[in-house]
Amino acid sequence: MTVEITKNSSGEIADAVKKKTCNRTWWRAMLRGFSRKCPSCGKGNLYHKFLKISDTCPSCGEELHHHRADDAPPYFTIFIVGHILLPGIIVVEKLWRPEIWIHMSIWLPLTILLTLWLLPRVKGAVLGLQWALRMHGFEYSALCAPARQSAKSGQNNN
Ligand SMILES: [Zn+2]
Repeated sequence: MTVEITKNSSGEIADAVKKKTCNRTWWRAMLRGFSRKCPSCGKGNLYHKFLKISDTCPSCGEELHHHRADDAPPYFTIFIVGHILLPGIIVVEKLWRPEIWIHMSIWLPLTILLTLWLLPRVKGAVLGLQWALRMHGFEYSALCAPARQSAKSGQNNN
């Protein structure tokens, strides 16, 4: 039943959206997301809290609540942090063989800081990729900013 509703409404919306949507470059959207900015305009802040994505972009009004990043950002963050720090841990151990408390006092804070720095950026990049690939509802929400403004002003005039 839900599929039928979506199918009917998407059929009507698709033609209008095709005329007004921008081309979306995946790498630019990911870079904008990585810098914690809206993948559409690159100006508005993606987050209103540390890891809470804003429902809409404060700058261009792009709907951002469609994202389904789920477990991908923590997974990629763990992968990246591990590949950055593990070689350092191995090199330090092989060269100087420090006590375990020295290892813990160096690598534990570095791991926490790098993870906290990277996680919102990776989540932003995942959101940017989902937006660029028109996944999870981004297909119909994303009009170009000028098209959205003209549609909005058209509504106000009527
Ligand atoms: Zn925006």
